[in-house]
Amino acid sequence: MESCIFCRIRDDELPARKVYEDELVVAFEDLNPQAPTHVLVIPRRHIATLNDLQPDDEPLVGHMLAVGAKMAAQRGHAARGWRAVFNNQREAGQTVFHIHLHVLGGRPMEWPPG
Ligand code: 5GP
Ligand code: ZN
Repeated sequence: MESCIFCRIRDDELPARKVYEDELVVAFEDLNPQAPTHVLVIPRRHIATLNDLQPDDEPLVGHMLAVGAKMAAQRGHAARGWRAVFNNQREAGQTVFHIHLHVLGGRPMEWPPG
């Protein structure tokens, strides 16, 4: 998807502070952080929403969460806590239609989310 900003970040066509990459996923700092740690983990392959996941994608999504846990642990949030968020579709707050895991940590979190 040429027009997708996260595909362009993956391809280094747009700047981003990348913090992790492997053959399946890329992680980078959110441009507008909502917590001291706010990392986004994306699959390399363009998948627009969680609604578009295929059965074969299940290990990929599990890997996204494992990488998110690694990012949170590296920043010292493993014991105190951190939040994993997927906003799915507009009413849930999805604004970029390439799936991404938000990894948020470093401050107390409220529940329910707004
Ligand atoms: P969503 O609202 O779709 O769940 O999350 C999109 C996230 O992407 C937002 O937290 C927003 O700040 C972040 N974002 C949007 N554009 C860019 C960008 O160009 N670079 C980076 N690093 N983050 C972005
Ligand atoms: Zn994309």
